[in-house]
Amino acid sequence: MTQPRSEQHREDGRTAASGRSAIDVSGLELTYSDGTEAVAGVNMTIPSGEFFGFLGPNGAGKTTTIKVFATLLSQTGGEVRVNGFDVTDNPRKVRESIGYMAQKTSVDLELTARENIRFACEAYGVPRGERAERVDELLELVDLADVAGKEAEEFSGGMQKRLDAATALVHRPPLVFLDEPTTGLDPKARNRLWEYFQRINDEGTTIFLTTQYLEEADQLCDRLAVILDGEIVADGSPAELKREVGGEVLDVEVEDGEAARERATEIARTFDEFGEDATVSVTEEGISVTAREARQHGTDLLVALRDAGLTVTGFNIRAPTLDDVFLAIMGEEENEADGIESEAEQ
Ligand code: ATP
Repeated sequence: MTQPRSEQHREDGRTAASGRSAIDVSGLELTYSDGTEAVAGVNMTIPSGEFFGFLGPNGAGKTTTIKVFATLLSQTGGEVRVNGFDVTDNPRKVRESIGYMAQKTSVDLELTARENIRFACEAYGVPRGERAERVDELLELVDLADVAGKEAEEFSGGMQKRLDAATALVHRPPLVFLDEPTTGLDPKARNRLWEYFQRINDEGTTIFLTTQYLEEADQLCDRLAVILDGEIVADGSPAELKREVGGEVLDVEVEDGEAARERATEIARTFDEFGEDATVSVTEEGISVTAREARQHGTDLLVALRDAGLTVTGFNIRAPTLDDVFLAIMGEEENEADGIESEAEQ
């Protein structure tokens, strides 16, 4: 990355703050009562209408952040405005202006699709006279109109998720939080939900998505932020993040199992031609090297691996994906942590 991260975030914040924001966060901190610092100074501005992706490994602080935005947890530091309302001063207004699709569906399996949506209308205080029309409209939107009278327990996992998403939208919130909405679904069901999320975003709804699937983030999101240990360590559009990784990716297949892959990793990590920014990760088949000079020096690495007695069974050069972005970020953080450790040891 060419710029110090803190500067990038200040710059982004300034640019986006000029438009109307769905979410405006400055210096957000949340330390749990046992001392766990789950969120440690997050700044972000999400303009209305954006499809925003929030990524990070398990335990990075994603759910904690969403819970603060949805007023389910109170922050221990910083300021958060959601749809213009301060989460501390105006939690009710915030709740009325958001939809929240939690990881676990809140669909009642004994009720029909229509009854589930009607029930959500009552719970969110949709005026009685508007309910029937709203229910029909949402059934249509999530393609469940044909099975509106069937009990939800007869539905597939994907259909239940679509119904759950519909119930989060009954009060027409301008902002919707989707916390890992497609986890556990097969690719077909996932694709169907993607279409639906895209549709509601096209109609103007701001979406805040967390997902484990980087391909999902790549397909859907206008902009992404990556959180690690409670801090945002990268943000930008998927294309920008891929460009920041820089260069290309060299995938190398190596025979003879884990020990050979580890040996190959060691050799690639100490291979000076790739430069300091190169990252190396172990894959199922071998190793993956991301470097500006991957194409120019790829064959030299293959020779070095062969000279070390390893059997290379295949290789490929390709453009970086979001998975590579993620691996590069994680690798960089590891290196920085190592640096701190070795400085401390001196
Ligand atoms: P996942 O993808 O696993 O849901 P996450 O990125 O959403 O992870 P959080 O659930 O926000 O991460 O957790 C952030 C940190 O806070 C972790 O170290 C977690 O163990 C800790 N944590 C979460 N809830 C609590 C709690 N109630 N009390 C103490 N620590 C907590």
